[in-house]
Amino acid sequence: MLELPFDLPSFDGGTVWLVGAGPGDPGLLSLLALHALRHADAVIHDALVDERIVALARPGALVESMGKRGGAASARQADITGRLIQLARQGFKVLRLKGGDPFVFGRGPEEALELAQAGIAFRIVPGITAGIGGLAYAGIPATSKDTNSAVAFVTGHGADGEIPDEFDWDSLAKGAPVMVFYMGIKHLDQLVSRLLASGRRPDEAMAAVAEAATPRQKVVVSTLGGIAAAVAEAGLKPPALLVLGAVVGLRQHLDWWDRHA
Ligand code: SAH
Repeated sequence: MLELPFDLPSFDGGTVWLVGAGPGDPGLLSLLALHALRHADAVIHDALVDERIVALARPGALVESMGKRGGAASARQADITGRLIQLARQGFKVLRLKGGDPFVFGRGPEEALELAQAGIAFRIVPGITAGIGGLAYAGIPATSKDTNSAVAFVTGHGADGEIPDEFDWDSLAKGAPVMVFYMGIKHLDQLVSRLLASGRRPDEAMAAVAEAATPRQKVVVSTLGGIAAAVAEAGLKPPALLVLGAVVGLRQHLDWWDRHA
């Protein structure tokens, strides 16, 4: 077990911990996430969680995969929360493990709201979100002093499965010098057209990073105008992030991962 000069909170039976597992590398787990894995009676994880992380579950723990892959719900949300509530009511220490951060495009708030409504005690353990930590593994910072003092995190997959339309794309494209897209690969053509129509320049730097922070990490660097063809040519598949803006140019100096691998 972990030997630390301070106590971590006790994981009580009948409670649910909603935990972010980070983008992939098990080394990016928080102490609380590892503590939860070592103590949970039941681990209900998203398909997106790296198998090396799931393998850290306590021997004998019940381990079930439930949740989305690449934005598609592979188990119905109601079934997932129903299962969490059922296990908690049986007195289990229930670990709900999600990729990245549970509160960033991760359905964490929805699950926590249902737990709250059902009167189940829960704890939220944030994780490193792919749009920050995953990009860092590709040598692309979310911000840097010389390039941008704001960044927008955008889902390419709205509630109806298409690119979202509930916000003002023109304002966002104008106001956010750097845009990071989650779940953007499926409708990449549509996304590119939307950005061009909103005034972003076709020669602006854009990158796609698939399976970031895993041994399978793949990066494609192109421009807004060229990214769709470049992604297709490289055969890049979800899960992948897209990032638009001047931070992409820093990768040529900051790409520590490919050099270390
Ligand atoms: N809660 C997660 C996001 C879930 S939405 C987080 O905070 O990171 C799923 C999307 O996240 C994927 O379609 C992809 O865009 C992105 N994603 C998650 N893990 C990733 C990884 N290791 N590499 C690249 N993209 C990733």
